[in-house]
Amino acid sequence: MSSDICIWCLQHANGKDEEHIIPEALGCPPGFVLPGTVVCRKCNNGLANLDSAVIDEFDFRAFMAGVPKKKGRPPAIRSRGNVVGTIEKDGSAISFNMDPVPVTAHDGSYLAPYRGSTRDVRAKFTRDGDTARISFDIPFGQNRKFLRGITKIAFSSLAYFLGAPLARSPAFSSVRRFVKHGAGNRHVLLTSSNDNCYSNSVWPPYISPSGDYAVTFRLTSVEFLVDLSEEESFIRMLQAKAPRFLGDKNWCTLPIKA
Ligand SMILES: [Zn+2]
Repeated sequence: MSSDICIWCLQHANGKDEEHIIPEALGCPPGFVLPGTVVCRKCNNGLANLDSAVIDEFDFRAFMAGVPKKKGRPPAIRSRGNVVGTIEKDGSAISFNMDPVPVTAHDGSYLAPYRGSTRDVRAKFTRDGDTARISFDIPFGQNRKFLRGITKIAFSSLAYFLGAPLARSPAFSSVRRFVKHGAGNRHVLLTSSNDNCYSNSVWPPYISPSGDYAVTFRLTSVEFLVDLSEEESFIRMLQAKAPRFLGDKNWCTLPIKA
């Protein structure tokens, strides 16, 4: 059927697999999917690495909130060089390795040394009387694939709320190129929520008087605004007005320029 066209490659799509708009490993709301007649199998599989980049960025938050991994597997942190997090009989456990040599983690798995890579986490151990403390900072949003993955969620949401025919429009060529091939530069505005709860939600797209679209959604405790217009007119407008709109909320646009 001619209406079965993939919103990404604009080729025939008649797959049976549903595409989860929010990665399952972060907790996709039930039914928040696109059918195989809207996202072809090749694109569903081929863009999965962008979902992984999004999952990786939120791994600590999802683990702390006890969100199961894909296919109901228990929560875990597995994609950090020097950190492993698992659920054990007596609760969650995290091992950090700050040594220059590999060690064995609490669950018996191999734990790589700290090498200072972007996926490594630098933990600081301090002792306060009888209490030992671990503190650590996790860099966020540095990975370009993460930005493409966030843009993918926004564009898929547009197709979900407003229909695939709109998403197939040439007006979104640059969005498709950025998500599929990493071509061009697109920006995402993010704010951290005030409540710090773990919750995922997506709101229907915003449409400007000139017919441009933007999608806002929340993943874990971070809220995103993704501008789907060719010229990124929303982002530029919001950057100018953000201090007034968002007040003292923490906000920034990604990528952060050096
Ligand atoms: Zn496709």
